[in-house]
Amino acid sequence: MTLRVGIVGGSMGGLFAASLLRAAGHDVHVFERSVRGLEGRGAGLVGQRELYAILRLLGCEQAARVGVLAHERITFARNGSIAQRDVTPQTQISWDHLYRTVRHLLPPASYRVDARVVRVENSASGAAIILDDGEAHRFDLVIGADGVGSVVRSAVSHGPTASTYAGYVAWRGLLPETQLPVEAATVLSERFAFYHPRGSQMLGYLVPGASGETAPGQRRYNWVWYRQAAEGLALDRWLTGSDGRLREYSVARGDVPDELRDELLRAADELLPTPFALAVHAEPTPSIQAIFDYESTRMIRDRVALLGDAAFVVRPHTAMGVAKAAGDVMALVATLARLPLEKALFVYEAERLAEGHRLAVYGRELGRPLTA
Ligand SMILES: Cc1cc2nc3c(=O)[nH]c(=O)nc-3n(C[C@H](O)[C@H](O)[C@H](O)COP(=O)(O)OP(=O)(O)OC[C@H]3O[C@@H](n4cnc5c(N)ncnc54)[C@H](O)[C@@H]3O)c2cc1C
Repeated sequence: MTLRVGIVGGSMGGLFAASLLRAAGHDVHVFERSVRGLEGRGAGLVGQRELYAILRLLGCEQAARVGVLAHERITFARNGSIAQRDVTPQTQISWDHLYRTVRHLLPPASYRVDARVVRVENSASGAAIILDDGEAHRFDLVIGADGVGSVVRSAVSHGPTASTYAGYVAWRGLLPETQLPVEAATVLSERFAFYHPRGSQMLGYLVPGASGETAPGQRRYNWVWYRQAAEGLALDRWLTGSDGRLREYSVARGDVPDELRDELLRAADELLPTPFALAVHAEPTPSIQAIFDYESTRMIRDRVALLGDAAFVVRPHTAMGVAKAAGDVMALVATLARLPLEKALFVYEAERLAEGHRLAVYGRELGRPLTA
């Protein structure tokens, strides 16, 4: 049976769902709130089994080959010397190239940008997506792939729908590798570098350029500095954008006020080994992402299903965000192929709830030193 499916959120979870459901013959419609789509906004991701599997099903495995290899992992001591070295090569796949590749599998008319969904109305016979201008669209099935601040959750959950702050944020930098000072580039390039002071973590690695470039000189350096910020005043201060207004989950590049960036630079000088401090200085427009947790108790209700971060927000240390979304999508599409809709949704939920919970627990375990 061909279903008319509405998907809220057009990041990797929504895109995987749309392209795999379309390949199975369904009529899909993605609603993405960002005005121009997400191109050029990602960095790198670690390839996991589920990612390769879904790309194989979609016939675009080659997208996972666009990446940058880090030959080894190094851990700095405070004085900038290398305290530990492990030969564990790891590739950072281009998020942007992946996004572009999967988005191109869809006809433009089925991926609508600048479409902010404000709520979903759910019933046993169908569900409707309501946009912020009041427009309503009715579907046989609505999928919530709308991430950490999901509005679709409330059409499914009987319990809390808000994500919970984990106690720390990720300051992020993403800059052309050519902007790294030579002194930093010599140590950091082509390595996965870490520094683990108490209650914090800094890491960095090369990722492809914004269009998937992997040639030396065209890649970008990505650093992430996890730092504690108490809920309330400290967090609010960091989440206030340059217009003085509080953001809910993150402050985008170019929106961090100058005085906060100045503070960041001073903290980097004081707290980080020199190569990392130089990398922080080299980023003119850092961004901030507060780290949240969310665990669904239900992933389905009537004609609505949740997947990806809308269902379970897991800590970034797991490197499983994209893979988990891919796993959800493959389970959902496979059950829809062999069972009637209502039954398929129950089986989907039974298969994926436990996995979401397992990853959420694992992520909190990995993040424990950051709240010590
Ligand atoms: C711009 C961007 C860049 C990323 N870069 C990386 C990366 O480099 N490496 C990595 O490992 N992971 C990255 N991620 C996260 C990774 O893609 C996710 O872990 C993965 O996509 C699974 O999450 P998701 O698709 O379920 O939710 P998300 O990726 O969080 O996407 C949710 C989507 O829903 C949209 N949305 C939210 N609310 C509404 C609404 N009310 N109406 C309409 N649309 C809505 C958002 O704009 C967003 O596109 C990135 C995510 C985004 C959004």
